[in-house]
Amino acid sequence: MQPPPAASKNPELSKQTQDLLAYIREKGGISVAEYMQRAVSAYYAHARPFGKEGDFITSPDISQLFGEMIGLWCADLWMQAGRPARIMLAELGPGRGTLMADILRTARNWPDFDAALSVHLVETSPQLRALQAQALGDRQAQWHDDAASLPKDTFSLIISNEFFDALPVRQFIRRQGAWHERYVIWDEAEAALRFTTRPCADAEAWIPKALQQTAPDGSVFEYSEQSCHIAATLGAHVAQSGGACLAIDYGHAQSGFGDTLQAVSRHEYADVLSAPGTRDITAHVDFDALGAAAAAAGAAVWPVVTQGAFLGTLGIHMRAQQLAARATPQQQAQIPLDVHRLTAPSAMGDLFKVICWQKKGAALAPAGFAKGE
Ligand code: SAH
Repeated sequence: MQPPPAASKNPELSKQTQDLLAYIREKGGISVAEYMQRAVSAYYAHARPFGKEGDFITSPDISQLFGEMIGLWCADLWMQAGRPARIMLAELGPGRGTLMADILRTARNWPDFDAALSVHLVETSPQLRALQAQALGDRQAQWHDDAASLPKDTFSLIISNEFFDALPVRQFIRRQGAWHERYVIWDEAEAALRFTTRPCADAEAWIPKALQQTAPDGSVFEYSEQSCHIAATLGAHVAQSGGACLAIDYGHAQSGFGDTLQAVSRHEYADVLSAPGTRDITAHVDFDALGAAAAAAGAAVWPVVTQGAFLGTLGIHMRAQQLAARATPQQQAQIPLDVHRLTAPSAMGDLFKVICWQKKGAALAPAGFAKGE
């Protein structure tokens, strides 16, 4: 196979970008979903995404208070469930493992809870598995390629932060009264990737009926088949095992139109189509669609709340004061800034949302959630 022209023009292109460009040329174009899937898995397999020196920073790395609140939430659910002697605690897409390490540290406050935990991590990248093992120190964990293989015979608490936003979305676009699908092709003349649209036969199966009727020309609807499949797997999981699933991510509470595909490199927005495989590509999460998939699989789904409201209800502001009381002057100045970043509507507080589903029939709502009208 010939290398794509850009590779010879630009010797700086990484091996993973060159491979992906060659593949797209050979195929004559691939769907946005396939593009995202290939670019994201190349990225997580080779890059150093996280932290100040990486491309982006996530909530667990902003402050330990984030993981502490999730740990508290898990312990509270365990108490509500009558303190089962065994708990399957799983995280999807744990990145560097910071969140799980903070949860486990918090769990030590309740020795029976701590002793009941067996830790499971769903992670496809071998490089990140190694970082996660390091973060957990001498704590045993089991890794899985797929959420479907998590054990269902034990009371389960399954959490994720910024996992679903990394999963591929198909993009459907309305053109002259018909739905098309967006593809990525190699433009020979421009020697660059570009978007194109192709007719699409199955779009209507995935777009809510009410939205289809009001879609103006140019509307884009994103559908993540893999996200809905995983939500259904986890809905069926907790319906069988007992326990709950908690997913935190940025996105919209209700399905709607919009092109939300974005790339981030070195803490800046970057072009989605340039240097694929070397930068993070994400899309906003459709919480409506996730909840519907979990409900259809038999789980009870709570109305989505914002991250700011969720962390506030769990007591992040009070805990921040406690932490500051024992901190250095420099930390005392930093803690309120971190909490502001996590909870303020102008920062991550509103854009990030939290969804929870659990086995039907629980007497109480999980902490931070309440029945909708
Ligand atoms: N939760 C972490 C990291 C989020 S980045 C944090 O908050 O910092 C997304 C994570 O999901 C990475 O660990 C990535 O390797 C993993 N991932 C992406 N696609 C996946 C898939 N299909 N199956 C399992 N893990 C996946």
